[in-house]
Amino acid sequence: MNDRIDWTAHYQALDAAHHLHPFSDMGALNRTGSRVIVHGEGVYLRDSEGVRIIDGMAGLWCVNLGYGRQELIDAACRQMHELPYYNTFFKTTHPPVAELSALLAELLPTRFNRFLYCNSGSEANDTALRAVHRYWAVQGKPEKRHVIARHNAYHGSTIAAATLGGMTGMHEQMLSKLEHVAHIGQPYWFGEGGTMDPHDFGLECARQLEAKILELGADKVAAFIGEPFQGAGGVIFPPASYWPEIQRICREHDVLLIADEVIGGFGRTGEWFAHEHFGFEPDVITMAKGITSGYVPMGAVALSDAIADAIIEGGEFNHGFTYSGHPLAAAVAVTNLNLLRDEGIVTRVRHDTGPYFQRCLREALAHHPIVGEIAGTGLVAGIQLAEDPATRKRFDITDAIGTLCRDFSFEGNLVMRASDDRMLLSPPLVVTHAEIDEIVQKARAAIDATAQAIRRAA
Ligand code: PMP
Repeated sequence: MNDRIDWTAHYQALDAAHHLHPFSDMGALNRTGSRVIVHGEGVYLRDSEGVRIIDGMAGLWCVNLGYGRQELIDAACRQMHELPYYNTFFKTTHPPVAELSALLAELLPTRFNRFLYCNSGSEANDTALRAVHRYWAVQGKPEKRHVIARHNAYHGSTIAAATLGGMTGMHEQMLSKLEHVAHIGQPYWFGEGGTMDPHDFGLECARQLEAKILELGADKVAAFIGEPFQGAGGVIFPPASYWPEIQRICREHDVLLIADEVIGGFGRTGEWFAHEHFGFEPDVITMAKGITSGYVPMGAVALSDAIADAIIEGGEFNHGFTYSGHPLAAAVAVTNLNLLRDEGIVTRVRHDTGPYFQRCLREALAHHPIVGEIAGTGLVAGIQLAEDPATRKRFDITDAIGTLCRDFSFEGNLVMRASDDRMLLSPPLVVTHAEIDEIVQKARAAIDATAQAIRRAA
C-alpha cells in the first residue's frame, strides 16, 4: 500500500500549500517543488528519492560535528528526561547552563568569562546591542549609542540584526529600521579594490571607520560590529592590514569592537574563533550555529570582563528570553564543544583537513578560466567567478551566474551555496580527505558546467 504513495510529491504538496521558506521566491519554488531532505549521516544528506548529497555547507555553516552524532542525541535525551525546561529568571540556575558557561570561559580568550544566552545568531546580535548600550549607560555615557557596521555584512534577520547587516535586498524590504546605525564599505578587494594593492585597500577600508566615527562624534559612537570574514556576503577575507587598523581605531576612539562569530566560531578557520586567525581582540563576541552543531537552536554573547563587570555593578539589566540558556540546548552545546576539543577536531582543521581542503581547491581551480580568486582558510572558502580573472572583470549578470553554478552543483549532489558571483563552501569539520576530494571534484564539475553554459550562450 505504502509503496504506491509518492512521498516526495506528498511532502512537496504540503510544503507548497502551507510553508513559506526563508529568503525564497515561493511562487517560483512552488512551481518546481522543494527537494525533500529526510536523513543525515556524517557529511552526507539523503533526499526522499534516496539520492545521497554531500553537504559542502554543513547545513547553514552550523553542523560542525556532522550529522547523526550519537553523543549529541544521548545528551539531548538525557536532558529531556532530567529537566527539559527551566528558566534562569527566578534566582535559579541549572547544571547545563552553568557548565556551558564555564566551558566557554575556557575556550575563549582569557578576558571573556561571562555569557548571555539566546536562541539564534540574530538574537545574539540584538543582545550584544542591548549589552553595549547598557554598558555605556552605566558608564554615564548614554549618548554613546551609534553603531557602525558594513555594507554587505550579514548579522541576521530581526529588525536590529538586519539593520546592522548591509544587505541591500533586505534593507529595501524594511519599512522601519533600527535607529543610530551607520554603514561603511566592505573590505572586498577583488570587487572593489580598483587599482590599489590589497594592503593599501585594507587600510583605506578600515579608515572609513575612523572617518565615520569623526563624522558622528566619538562621544556618540558605542561600537563597531563586523564578521571577521563576511560569510553570507561571499566568504570575503579582508586584507591582512584591515583588522589591526580597525582595532587601533576602535581603541583610539573608545569604541567597542564586536566580532560576529556566528559562522567563524567553533573551529571553522582552524582556530576556535575566527578573530584569532585575523589577530585582533574584540570586546564582545556573538555566537550561535556551531555552538550546538545546529542540533538545537542556541545563541550566546561573550562579554569581556571590563564590560561584564560594569553591567553587573550597574544593577538589573532588563533583558532576556524565555529560552535564554535553555537546558536542552546547553546540554547539547556542552557535549558538542567537549567533542570538538577532546577529539582534536579543531586542531585537525588547523593542521590537516583545513590545509588539505585549501590546497585541493587551489590545485583544481586556481587557473580555471572563470575563477578569479579563492579566499579562505581552514574549512571555509569563497570562489570568485569572473569573466576575466586577470583583470578582475566580473560577469555582468553577477547574481544569475552564481545561481547557475549553484544549480549545477545541486544537480551533481553537492550542496554549494552562491552569494552573487561567489561560490561558498563550508563543510562539516569532521570531513575526511576522501570527502574533501569528492567536494572539490564536484565543485569543479559545477564550475566547468557553468563555463560551458556561458560559452554556449555567447
Ligand atoms: N551572523 C552571521 C555572521 C550569520 O552568518 C548569521 C546567519 N547566517 C547570523 C548572524 C544570524 O543567525 P541566525 O540565522 O541564527 O539568526
